Amino acid sequence: MQPRSQEMHQTVIRLLEKRGVPVEEIARIVMFLQQDYIPALTLEACLESVHAVLCKREVQNALLTGIQLDMLAEEGRLIAPLQELIASDESLYGIDEVLSLAIVNLYGSIGFTNYGYVDKLKHGILAWLNDKRNGVHTFLDDLVGAIAAAASSRLAHRARQAEEEKEPCGKHTTGA
Ligand code: MG
Repeated sequence: MQPRSQEMHQTVIRLLEKRGVPVEEIARIVMFLQQDYIPALTLEACLESVHAVLCKREVQNALLTGIQLDMLAEEGRLIAPLQELIASDESLYGIDEVLSLAIVNLYGSIGFTNYGYVDKLKHGILAWLNDKRNGVHTFLDDLVGAIAAAASSRLAHRARQAEEEKEPCGKHTTGA
């Protein structure tokens, strides 16, 4: 039986923390990505957006799957040659990125742009996750980047929506 959504939300938050990623750190990446575009953006708003993303079932499933594979690779318990591919973060493996695309897609195409940008910059906790001395995070680095990208896209969509409501596109004079 599927666990309830709220239980799953708590489970993934605990799992992220256990793997060295407090949710606040993901919110900081969102803040970094969006602060130049959304005036008066707060860390609280970023955190709220991250939680909204973490409430989605497909995000929870992707996190459970990816984190479990990282953990098993860290313990050396995967079958060959998967063990070596994941433990060494082999760049041609690619399934870590594929799994993350399910998250990036959630809020439309802005997500793709944000995800590419996040992946390149390795801001904040992503730098820690990419340091191999800190353990196997082959899946988690992409998943965290994807969650930050999705939470950013969600904020950007909402900001635009608020703008449009202030000035609906139908509101113009006909000159007649
Ligand atoms: Mg990776």
